[in-house]
Amino acid sequence: MKNYLGIDIGGTSVKMGIVNEEGTVLLQHESSVSFDNYQTPIIETVVKTVHQFNASHHYIIEGIAISAAGQIDTKLGKVIGTCGNLPNYIGSEFKSRFEKEFNYNVTVVNDANCMILGEKWIGNAKNHENVIGITLGTGVGGGILVNNQILLGSRGLAGEIGHFIVDKAGLLCTCGNNGCYEQVASTTALIRRVKNSCNAHVNVDGRWIFNEVQNGNAQVIQCVNEWIDDIAIGLVSLIHIFNPSCILIGGGVSSQEEFLINPLREKVFSLVMPRFKDNLELKQARLKNNAGIIGAVYYYIYNN
Ligand SMILES: [Zn+2]
Repeated sequence: MKNYLGIDIGGTSVKMGIVNEEGTVLLQHESSVSFDNYQTPIIETVVKTVHQFNASHHYIIEGIAISAAGQIDTKLGKVIGTCGNLPNYIGSEFKSRFEKEFNYNVTVVNDANCMILGEKWIGNAKNHENVIGITLGTGVGGGILVNNQILLGSRGLAGEIGHFIVDKAGLLCTCGNNGCYEQVASTTALIRRVKNSCNAHVNVDGRWIFNEVQNGNAQVIQCVNEWIDDIAIGLVSLIHIFNPSCILIGGGVSSQEEFLINPLREKVFSLVMPRFKDNLELKQARLKNNAGIIGAVYYYIYNN
């Protein structure tokens, strides 16, 4: 069976693993890329870590598949933009550098798009050809699968659902615009909402919020309901544009089946035009932390 090296480069850590042609992760490793506040450019940290990782195992690999945060020019395999501040990251030429350094073919795709590809391959989007995925976290990541192809756009930048503007008078976003979807739909937005309305003195995070929901805290429940309404409105617009059969919700909070996934499904289904929900499923993503490396390898296999 053929094996590949999958690498998932994020803003705080890099994960890598040997993934076989069935999508099983055989061996993995994770290390920090932010240990010295990015004085060492992320690409240098990753190159060094891959050398160490390769020296630690005896698998023969066919190629290197990279999933990376930020705006990735898929053809060049290069980071051409970010939202927010990641020092020494824009301009990183992952494809050419890794091909030279390791002598394998290399593909590079944005991490949110890799999440969808991983789910399509062996996760909860298996058997679906049209999928929309959103990852709720600090921001909102997005990926769109159309007729079995990940939608990359002209340069590989497509699927930035987080920067879909939903309110021209909304909060200023890291991208410079006001009222982006992620300013209302991210976990950060939920936390801000709860802090503002509850004068919470504790450390508010997703876990605390859903604990309070379970305890029947009415103010927190109202914040969560308003947040779900905002997530739903964006999804409804996307459903009307793309007519997917599967909506996947990822990110740490997506494990909240009872308090997030179920009410979100109900809200979305109450707002979409009837024929759009005939075969529509809305569920949580399955692969969690390994989605990036698995999805990157899936892309590699179909493009080499
Ligand atoms: Zn934005």
